[in-house]
Amino acid sequence: SIVPVSLGDRSYDVAIEAGSLDGAARHLAPWLKRGRAIIITDSNVAHHQLPRLEASLDGLERHVITLPAGESTKSWAQLEALTDRLLALEVERGDHIIALGGGVIGDLVGFAAAILKRGCGFIQIPTTLLAQVDSSVGGKTAINTRAGKNLIGAFHQPSFVLIDPSVLDTLPRRELGAGYAEVVKYGLIGDFGFFEWCEANAARLLAGDAEARVHAIATSVAAKAAIVGDDERETSGRRALLNLGHTFGHALEAETGFSDRLLHGEGVAAGMALAFRYSARRGLCASQDAERVAAHLRAVALPDGLAAAGIAASGETLVAHMLHDKKMAAGTLAFILARAIGNSFVDKSVELADVAAFLNAETRSS
Ligand code: NAD
Ligand code: ZN
Repeated sequence: SIVPVSLGDRSYDVAIEAGSLDGAARHLAPWLKRGRAIIITDSNVAHHQLPRLEASLDGLERHVITLPAGESTKSWAQLEALTDRLLALEVERGDHIIALGGGVIGDLVGFAAAILKRGCGFIQIPTTLLAQVDSSVGGKTAINTRAGKNLIGAFHQPSFVLIDPSVLDTLPRRELGAGYAEVVKYGLIGDFGFFEWCEANAARLLAGDAEARVHAIATSVAAKAAIVGDDERETSGRRALLNLGHTFGHALEAETGFSDRLLHGEGVAAGMALAFRYSARRGLCASQDAERVAAHLRAVALPDGLAAAGIAASGETLVAHMLHDKKMAAGTLAFILARAIGNSFVDKSVELADVAAFLNAETRSS
């Protein structure tokens, strides 16, 4: 299926089709007819999925740049090395840069494309579930610095996104589950029917069912496209809804030092469970809704709170991590809270002392 992202002259399509990586030459033809394909990927994806893309582009002029896998690749040093290599290749307007990989490759390559010669086109071929349903769509690009994650970056929309769910067959199960947390997020934000679909079909999706994957990805991308189309640069606040679970989750990730102990999506899963329980504590939503969210996360082996995420820190410590989050504006933290499953909203007047007390109570009760 095709999901359009409507952003005026920056509009583009997201194509979602099982097996489409093997037909990439056809899908990418409009962009490759005038120049070279410059494929940028990481070492894991180069091993598992690059041969499929290369076979499809057989006979077309292309270059491949393979970077180390891992979050540390989103760095100034890798950005400099990458832009140097692209300039050495004498990238021209007709050439097209292709990001083949997860969110790390997508964010780095997107940022390189944003600043190379003041902006050149690029295509996203996301290979993790997280990148397929979240980072490849919407135009946020960034690298990490000493001061924190994603603090240097740009809005730069891709010209096309090609999603092949079959690439997920080689993704480690834990990475797949972490990406699934972002899928459930769209149901929790604004689509109760989709959350019910997730409850009924998550097992099928995680086991590799192509039809379930296409449906989940297309629904997620359409939800993200609608929000981004409304609020491309997160000015009206609607785009902030996509941060459901992320303020709590960020604190948990920070507590683990952003290590492999807790993947981003795992932090988001625990964070969404906390956002719902905090909303219930405030009387904003029914506690049955919060319990139902937690039960679904447990059913797919995702953490449903502090204990399951392996976090024993105090509420005060976790709130201090939140205050280092870039989402802090003028001394307030925006929390995404819920009135019900599928009905989330932005609350900018949350008392941080109350959040700390809630988190301390969470630790005691587990
Ligand atoms: P990732 O890119 O590091 O990929 C996870 C791991 O899976 C890596 O080891 C990678 O090499 C491997 N891999 C990728 N595809 C594979 C495949 N098909 N088969 C086997 N192995 C494969 O991580 P991620 O979770 O995709 O992305 C995380 C990044 O995304 C973070 O840096 C985060 O900040 C960013 N992000 C950006 C946005 C945005 O809007 N731009 C949104 C969410 C997250
Ligand atoms: Zn996320």
